[in-house]
Amino acid sequence: MASFPLAPGAAIGIIGGGQLGRMLSLAAAELGFDTVILEPERGCPAGRVAARTIAAPYDDPEALAKLAKACAVVSYEFENVPAAAVDRLAALGCEVAPGARALAVAQDRLEEKTFLNAHGAPTVAFAAASTADEAVQAVAEVGAPALMKTRREGYDGKGQRWVEHAADAAAAFQALGGVPVIVEAACPFVRELSVIAARGRDGATAVYPLAENHHEGGILRRSIAPAGVAKATADQAERIAARVLGGLDYVGVVGIELFELADGALLVNEFAPRVHNTGHWTQDGCEVSQFEQHIRAIAGWPLGPTHAIVRVEMLNLLGEEVHGWARLAAEPESRVHLYGKREAKAGRKMGHVNRMRPL
Ligand code: AMP
Repeated sequence: MASFPLAPGAAIGIIGGGQLGRMLSLAAAELGFDTVILEPERGCPAGRVAARTIAAPYDDPEALAKLAKACAVVSYEFENVPAAAVDRLAALGCEVAPGARALAVAQDRLEEKTFLNAHGAPTVAFAAASTADEAVQAVAEVGAPALMKTRREGYDGKGQRWVEHAADAAAAFQALGGVPVIVEAACPFVRELSVIAARGRDGATAVYPLAENHHEGGILRRSIAPAGVAKATADQAERIAARVLGGLDYVGVVGIELFELADGALLVNEFAPRVHNTGHWTQDGCEVSQFEQHIRAIAGWPLGPTHAIVRVEMLNLLGEEVHGWARLAAEPESRVHLYGKREAKAGRKMGHVNRMRPL
């Protein structure tokens, strides 16, 4: 069993080898830690900066045993880590952070919204359905138009459909694969915001200023942070973050997506039990980035400051846009962060640029 705080030189495991794992690895290295990546894809972005990569499926028992043996603590960069993998690590006496409960709640939109409401974090009205008849009933309950989402495994707007009339609910249910769904009332939001927050092993919490987010085609395009918000809105975001973190006895960084209503009140859309794309601005906008904060939290170190030192406009570089790196690098106010992905497929997150503006 690991003893905390972890001393530099210890190894931290990360399940998933994408850009988030890469940036976590870079931050861990800054604090003197090694990272070990578990990822089936060879030459993955994280593997090329980590001390070691175990190339195997996420639920491979032998690979998990190797990971548990090598690492003092294991974390992950995506929320669809198989529950069995986390159970296996726990059975091997390996510390996983954030823990199994945070992961289980975040993996199921119904559990997530139920948890949020039970802990005083408001959401839109919702209803669950497992059959076409129940789907019709659910839409009638929350009111059309409504958004039908698969309970599990949706991301970047995938696995969801708008239902304009209750009569269309059965067809939408079938189009989503006939799997269990959640039906959500349409949220009349004026802006999408997010809050990145962290909780340490001692229960201390730290909350970054809110980011304002713009999506295109279901993918995050731009974040601006700190977002200009009323004090009451910022206070509500802090309260929501504290409730989520406390309610899950959480360790690590969480990304909470929010809808802002016309009166400044917030509803929670969802949370991700990991570092988050809308928190990339903290790399250049704060003294301690979300990546370092996550490593600090899971290593049992004190959390770092979260106030903004500059305003940042974060732009995701999707697909071929990454080829503009030379022009972006020439902008004096820009910091370019590239993920080392070899193929610039359409819509693929290849990097991001943080453009600094005065606060
Ligand atoms: P999600 O996969 O839950 O993050 O949803 C993707 C996007 O769909 C969000 O960023 C919103 O723009 C939109 N969205 C999600 N849920 C709702 C809702 N209940 N009402 C209106 N828009 C929504």
